[in-house]
Amino acid sequence: MRGDSIAFISHPDSNTHLAPFPRPNIESFESPLRTQMAESYLRNRGILETLLCIRSPRAKERAALLVHSPYLVDSIKLMTEIGTGQLGESAYASPELFRTALLAVGGAMRSAELVAKGKALHAFSLMRPPGHHASTSTPSGLCFFNNVAIAVRHATKHLGVAKVTILDFDDHFGNGTAEIFYSDPNVQIVSIHEYDYESFGLGHYMEVGHGEAIGTKINIPLVDMTPDSSYISAIDRVVVPAIERFSPQILAVSAGYDSHYADPVGNMDVTSKVYWYLGSTVTKLVERLNCAGSFWVLEGGYNPMMIGPCIEASLAGMAKHPLPKLDDQIERETNESVIETNESIIEQVLETLDAYS
Ligand SMILES: [Zn+2]
Repeated sequence: MRGDSIAFISHPDSNTHLAPFPRPNIESFESPLRTQMAESYLRNRGILETLLCIRSPRAKERAALLVHSPYLVDSIKLMTEIGTGQLGESAYASPELFRTALLAVGGAMRSAELVAKGKALHAFSLMRPPGHHASTSTPSGLCFFNNVAIAVRHATKHLGVAKVTILDFDDHFGNGTAEIFYSDPNVQIVSIHEYDYESFGLGHYMEVGHGEAIGTKINIPLVDMTPDSSYISAIDRVVVPAIERFSPQILAVSAGYDSHYADPVGNMDVTSKVYWYLGSTVTKLVERLNCAGSFWVLEGGYNPMMIGPCIEASLAGMAKHPLPKLDDQIERETNESVIETNESIIEQVLETLDAYS
């Protein structure tokens, strides 16, 4: 195994949990097709042969307790035994939930280990269900165990990593991850997400962390129908300088692909170019900061035909390859008012950050 390679973690049993919803709704979009089609796509494109492919190990139950309450762990186990039932908002059990969810935790932990121990420079865990909405004691939003948060806590507690940045580019705000680390000054969270300025909600840029952690939680809440150019501006103007200032030893990435314009759940207008730009930015940060590397954990992304190409773009960026030409990179209509609104939001994010740095 070479220390400058990219590891890819998956497992066929990631496909066993199936929420009990046959109709197209939020729950049914989080389906086994997501990981199955993405992996087939990457195999057919010859990309898997360039990666260190590793089967995800199943995490021990106690690993979940690194960030979750015993009540959350026991309730997921109980509902799995019953074989159905609601654990939280848009979080439904199946007879395979507990085992599948622990496999996803294992994938995230193994990716953190590979990078922290110098066995890979980057790692990508293509496992489901996602995790970033799961808080200390509440599953919600298709998430049960918070995979990335458990892997980050594992890295700081057991792998000798002092400071971690979590970059979350899923379309939605990772409220679970934010809650878990809100008072932790050693975990920086930088999140770009869709935000509704008419009804408001969590993920506002004024949420900056608590106590010693003030200033380590950075939200970039952009309006719906945000195009590539606003994402690139947010990355260049906020994400890069903030991570450089914090100077983590490892980067964790909550990789959600539901901001893509063809996603049935997210309302953004992004193409695979942004996912390439994120991969390439992360690689540059790793070099500049002399970090161990980055580990990526799949969050959302609900168009099973688009997840593979979007991951291909991210991997190309990580590997310092040029932007691959992909079918989704078509000219999108530019909405100047969206771009202007986003620029003023970015200004406010920067002003908020200045006040706490
Ligand atoms: Zn999402």
